[in-house]
Amino acid sequence: MSFPLEGNFSVKTAVLSCIETDRIPHAVIIDGDKGLGKHTLAMFLAKAGVCSEKEKPCGVCRNCHLAEIGSHPDIIVVSPEEGKKNITVAQIRSLRAGAYIKPHMAARKFFIVDGADLLNEQAQNAFLKVLEEPPAGVCFILIAQSKAALLDTIISRCVCFSLSVPDMSDSVKYIKSKTGLAENEIKTALEETSGNIGLAIQMLCGESDNSVGQDAKQFVSLISQEDYLGMLSITAKYEKNRVLAGEFLKEIKAFTAEEIRKNRDKAYRLKGLYEFYDALCGFEKSLITNINLSLLFSALCCKAENIAKNSN
Ligand SMILES: [Zn+2]
Repeated sequence: MSFPLEGNFSVKTAVLSCIETDRIPHAVIIDGDKGLGKHTLAMFLAKAGVCSEKEKPCGVCRNCHLAEIGSHPDIIVVSPEEGKKNITVAQIRSLRAGAYIKPHMAARKFFIVDGADLLNEQAQNAFLKVLEEPPAGVCFILIAQSKAALLDTIISRCVCFSLSVPDMSDSVKYIKSKTGLAENEIKTALEETSGNIGLAIQMLCGESDNSVGQDAKQFVSLISQEDYLGMLSITAKYEKNRVLAGEFLKEIKAFTAEEIRKNRDKAYRLKGLYEFYDALCGFEKSLITNINLSLLFSALCCKAENIAKNSN
């Protein structure tokens, strides 16, 4: 799999060299503004770290597959619990305890601390204890908008990857390839978001992530009702824009992964769900090529209908 971020050449070189030489640091800070790809980079690194093939991350081995659906037992994401703003000291203590348990299936174990800059001092000090004597085979990835909020004692023990805004011309080219929109329009959006690709795309596509999520959720529920026309009418909204189409597929994948987790003990449903998940991965890949979106979505609805018929 190729490096997932635009620009950021020094980070790209450093990350790829860690992966190629199999020397992933035991603690990493990824910082940068919202929309620059911090989570994407964290997942890429973790996936490469658990991948069992030579070209890491291969994107097809069982480790990569589980990482992709957010089910890899050796990639643990720590983020604020529901209803809370910050990660608690108790969560950090349990992370610490977990760090001393050997990985389940990969050679390494990853803890991704999402929102590390929101840890209070007590929690940071609790975390420092495990950083001072890191267990072998463990990598901590701290995601922060700004590392300035972290204790110096933590920063000094981590390798920092600071993400920045890519060049205007690279960003324009990238967004154009994804949306097919006019350069002028893209430039205006980039100027208004200070060059932030993620935010600019959101602005240009005029849809909040939430509505794509709701459509995906509804789509997945229509599958079990075998409502083919309902599915087609939802996908029709995504036939004109590759970025939104990609977001939509990603959300359907997330809901399918959730269904897989919920149906662990129902073999008759699992087979179909796995098959559908694989098909979604295939559709995502074909999105990168210039496949016609109407064709892609009618194939998707058709696949969903077949799977529903076979497992209901
Ligand atoms: Zn792999």
